[in-house]
Amino acid sequence: MRCEIIAVGSELLTPSRLDTNSLYLTDRLNELGIAVRVKAVVGDDQADLAAVFSAALDRADLIVLTGGLGPTSDDLTRETVSQVLGRPLAESAQIVAALERRFAARGLRMPAINRKQALVPGGARVLDNPNGTAPGLWIDHEHRVVVLLPGPPRELKPIVETFVLPTLSTLTGGARLYRKMLKIAGRPESMVEEVTEPVYSKWADESPPIVTTILAAPGQVELHLVMVAVDGSAAEARLTAAASALETVLEGDVFSTDGRTLEEVVGDLLRESRLSVAVAESCTGGLVVSKLTDVPGSSNYVERGIVAYSNRAKVEMLDVPEHLIATYGAVSESVAAAMAEGVRTRAKTGVGMGITGIAGPGGGSPEKPVGTVAIAVSVGEETSTRTFRFPGSRDMVKSQAAQAALDLVRRRLLAIR
Ligand code: ATP
Repeated sequence: MRCEIIAVGSELLTPSRLDTNSLYLTDRLNELGIAVRVKAVVGDDQADLAAVFSAALDRADLIVLTGGLGPTSDDLTRETVSQVLGRPLAESAQIVAALERRFAARGLRMPAINRKQALVPGGARVLDNPNGTAPGLWIDHEHRVVVLLPGPPRELKPIVETFVLPTLSTLTGGARLYRKMLKIAGRPESMVEEVTEPVYSKWADESPPIVTTILAAPGQVELHLVMVAVDGSAAEARLTAAASALETVLEGDVFSTDGRTLEEVVGDLLRESRLSVAVAESCTGGLVVSKLTDVPGSSNYVERGIVAYSNRAKVEMLDVPEHLIATYGAVSESVAAAMAEGVRTRAKTGVGMGITGIAGPGGGSPEKPVGTVAIAVSVGEETSTRTFRFPGSRDMVKSQAAQAALDLVRRRLLAIR
């Protein structure tokens, strides 16, 4: 089923109001396997709305319009839809009575302009709106479905949940959307694409197809696998097989296929290994330990985090030898290793981490440009170190460094299992 959403309201074309209805609708329609192909925001102008709605009618099986069902003269959705479809409006006595009851319950007389909300295009079904005066409307029109919904989200959502989705679900034969997400660290988007495209491209031609999308975020890449099917267990089995085929070509770079974040995965590995962690951070300013402690129950394995920003702090709080800083510079693998070992020794933990780098925008040099970050992980007898060059702003360097540090710990913990 091909769907289009039209949000009506001039306020949605200003910077002060966002069309959130279409986001909610897209999410709920996708769950039923209905793809939203086009969405539009139109001001309170009858000619513009007629043009956008007519174009949607030519393309879509399902058109959902939100807003513009109110009683005032700028609310034009009902009138425009009736005109374009050639279904004249007629007053519904049932809606008039409901409106009058609604006003009477608040001790008010119904203003005459509200009668407009009782107008219904020929053949439309009225969808009760318990939270407002404008009812929704469902119109079956020449093998298409047109749905009109009130604009306020608290009025729209109950109508969608109680009527629109169950009815659409019957029309689509109970199909649903199934998804699987692989989260990848340590490999940029283009290199993920290079190895996975030959694997996933053939799934697009299978029946039903699996649609694969790559999304990049700072420090991680996500592969989203999506399929629409009626048989849920068959869909899950196909997605699981697809995910494991991708895991194979991505080697150890996939850290999660079940929605867990990197900090959750690291937390689970620490718990399984019965190890606690202490983190010494310079350029990330506490971000690594903040992420680790975002996970409920992290007090079981996070011992402490030290932000040692200055050289003096690295020496005083982590016992980093001054000569290392003098010889190699504060941003170096030697200092990162000394930070990881220093914090680990002082905290008496199984794992120590050290992160030192240049987040920018100033402070770079030809040998160590902005984005240079040295990370060390100390586990067992060994301290491993790596130097990264991250692109982007100060924020991006910090978040990529935190992800890379967590990923290095993950890899070390997997290696000692
Ligand atoms: P009412 O009977 O309340 O006037 P309506 O269908 O005419 O309902 P609008 O007047 O278009 O709705 O919008 C009322 C309010 O609902 C807007 O000011 C806005 O706060 C909210 N709203 C409308 N459309 C959207 C949208 N697409 N996304 C989020 N909020 C919306």
